[in-house]
Amino acid sequence: MNAHIEPTFRESVNMMFDKAINLMDISPGLASKIKVCNSTYTVRFGVKLRGDIHTFTGYRSVHSEHKEPVKGGIRFATSVNQDEVEALAALMTYKCALVEAPFGGSKGGLHIDPNEWEPDELEKITRRFAYELIKRDLIHPSQNVPAPDMGTGEREMAWIADQFRRMNTSEINADACVTGKPLNKGGIIGRVEATGRGVQYALQEFFRHADDVKTSGLSGSLNGKSVVVQGLGNVGYHAAHFLSTEDGCKITAVIERDGAVINDGGININDLQSHLQKTGGVKGFLDAEYTSNGSSILEKNCNILIPAAMEGVINLSNAKRIKANVIIEAANGPVTAGADEIINAAGTVIIPDMYANAGGVTVSYFEWVKNLSHIRFGRMQRRQQATSNHMLIEEMERLVGKPVSDSFKTKFFQGAGELELVRSGLEDTMCSAYQQMHKTWRSNDNIDSLRTAAYVLALTKVADSYRALGL
Ligand code: NAD
Repeated sequence: MNAHIEPTFRESVNMMFDKAINLMDISPGLASKIKVCNSTYTVRFGVKLRGDIHTFTGYRSVHSEHKEPVKGGIRFATSVNQDEVEALAALMTYKCALVEAPFGGSKGGLHIDPNEWEPDELEKITRRFAYELIKRDLIHPSQNVPAPDMGTGEREMAWIADQFRRMNTSEINADACVTGKPLNKGGIIGRVEATGRGVQYALQEFFRHADDVKTSGLSGSLNGKSVVVQGLGNVGYHAAHFLSTEDGCKITAVIERDGAVINDGGININDLQSHLQKTGGVKGFLDAEYTSNGSSILEKNCNILIPAAMEGVINLSNAKRIKANVIIEAANGPVTAGADEIINAAGTVIIPDMYANAGGVTVSYFEWVKNLSHIRFGRMQRRQQATSNHMLIEEMERLVGKPVSDSFKTKFFQGAGELELVRSGLEDTMCSAYQQMHKTWRSNDNIDSLRTAAYVLALTKVADSYRALGL
């Protein structure tokens, strides 16, 4: 591949794969088995809307079935095509391996602009797409479990789950056919925020590794760091919200479809989100300067750049002008393979997508387990834990002869509910995966980045799994 020609998304993922696999002791046959996408199903279906038949094209790719079910979101966007869906499915295989979610990789997409349709029309389209996938086991609790992605959320997942239930009336595990559902439809607390929360945990862990922080040219902690975010959707909003309200970061610019808003003093993310929901864009937000040239703001001076919209936005055309110390890939594939080389050489640390946005699939894994076990996390232990905590504090107060503060008691007596357990499991996953990537990166001179380290770790796990299957 010519390094000066921008590869497609799938080629870009494959180039990153090749770079890592060349450092590993894996036979060429096994390497190519891991790399290829096992299958892609394309469906064209018609839905009668607004007095006429409209034909839609959708895809579901299964990249690797070394573990089943396979897992990966369903995207509704006009960018959707086979190349994109296959690239995203491959990333899902590697991501699940890296964070030890016991799934193979898959991804789906529907070529549609969801904003062009009314909710009841979108429901018809989603149910029809789901029907096509369900009848081929491409949505199934033990075969293939989708989740939200760009352009989809809890509402679409609820429609898909309901469609599966209608077609499988006696399936006791029907709820586990899709994750990211609303809480009252078998969802889990903390799934909506999970990917953005995972980005926050990833950055917190990065700042606990002084040598990595030094490589990026930064020092200290997250507090006071300037952050530019692209895409104020599910992932971007939650990441920006948590970083600004809990870690002391300043969100100095937000890039959306219609341009960008900039305020070096810090943007109030909740105000901006309300504005975006009301007007459909960031233009006209009072508390910031506006430019219609959104993508130029990726090149703004900042400590942390969070591309959280779509793939390929940092590419050969702008990579040299990126000034951030750290890029955390909240979106999938925002940095192309060519740009990755340029940015690494410039000393910017890239926290790779496969790891950075794995919070979503991690909490989806918890939701799937919850659905299969038919009980919410913490239901059995919470009261018992609260009682032991009470006994412990009473005994401590008796021994030292002093009361423990009321605020401490309130927190300590509560015990862990589902949200606390989900966040704890997510934080543990993000911390331990970062530590493994850090160790792999720092202990091998041939591994030049966190991304290559992530690929080496993930591919080792997938290869081990294939070897154990006897392939
Ligand atoms: P979303 O649809 O909720 O939000 C995407 C946001 O990006 C929207 O606000 C949209 O207006 C904006 N946007 C789209 N194109 C843009 C452009 N060219 N410039 C600026 N802004 C643009 O989607 P999401 O679920 O937040 O997903 C965003 C990214 O994160 C995708 O790459 C997705 O694959 C990845 N991701 C999502 C999840 C999840 O749990 N939702 C998990 C892992 C990875």
